Amino acid sequence: MREVSFYSHEEEGILRCNICNHRCKIREGKRGICGARENRDGKLYALNYGLASSINVDPIEKKPLYNFHPGSKVLSLGTIGCNFRCLHCQNYSISTASIGDYPLEEITPEDVSTLAKEYGVGGVSWTYNEPTIWYEFTYDASKIAKRDGFTTSYVTNGYMTEEALKDISPYLDAANVDVKAFKEEFYKKICKASLEPVLRTCEIMKEEDIHLEITYLVIPTYNDDENEIREFCRWVVDLDPSTPVHFTRFYPYYEMLDVPATPVETLKDAYKIGKEEGIEYLYLGNVSGLDEENTYCPNCGELLIGRSGFSIIRCDLKDGRCPSCGFKVNIII
Ligand code: SF4
Repeated sequence: MREVSFYSHEEEGILRCNICNHRCKIREGKRGICGARENRDGKLYALNYGLASSINVDPIEKKPLYNFHPGSKVLSLGTIGCNFRCLHCQNYSISTASIGDYPLEEITPEDVSTLAKEYGVGGVSWTYNEPTIWYEFTYDASKIAKRDGFTTSYVTNGYMTEEALKDISPYLDAANVDVKAFKEEFYKKICKASLEPVLRTCEIMKEEDIHLEITYLVIPTYNDDENEIREFCRWVVDLDPSTPVHFTRFYPYYEMLDVPATPVETLKDAYKIGKEEGIEYLYLGNVSGLDEENTYCPNCGELLIGRSGFSIIRCDLKDGRCPSCGFKVNIII
């Protein structure tokens, strides 16, 4: 347990958590929406500090991060809890779990670096559940991991507050942010959250020089409308056309079992829209064997990185440039 990094005192006996944009008002003895922060005797505590639900070594492509140290391995860690309530959550067993009803391993920030060294990975990734749920631990461990020469990355729903994000940004190299739809109504109904703070997070990441990639899970009838996808793509281009975008395939899961898997044609349509709008690095995910999992030069179309699932089968870059036309690519090696 550890005192929360960002909170304020409201009226008598009520604290406001400022870690994510829900900014929960929490009464004495109560917890916030994520279930991980509790008001105890007038102080706000993170209950899950150093309590890991999952620790694995993954290819960085699994996050997905395709333009950030391609082919490298990362130590991946998550805890339990979430600040969203997505009906299609792929990790609901940990995102909906409470402390006491899920097996958790206690670790220290130093342990993360030690494990990363033991496994010989290049970085540490906060993933599986929303990283801001154990923000304080990810902050401390990322700081040590950076000191020890590892990269750090967040796989996130992008709902952290500006103050929390700016504070951790010196210790955060990369992030994949889920933009779950481009309509407020979807965020309200499906995630019990709001779209605007997520878009703002992407802007701040750019300002803070954090390598950003965006995932858009395409769900039939929910967020696959051509106009919505085009609007999303235009927003990406305004943000920075060199931001890699992953359109990924939905499979029926959790409380959305009645919705069919995304047709591959729909994904290809999204890819085409992204190309038309000028996004430079586009990928299709959760479906294998497509050319759209490769990286092509945005300038001349040359194949730069060939992939098969999460494996790299070829990587042709010369000093961060396309070997064919010399274009400087947004790929960190
Ligand atoms: S981190 Fe948890 S307690 Fe804090 S504002 Fe978000 S949901 Fe509420």
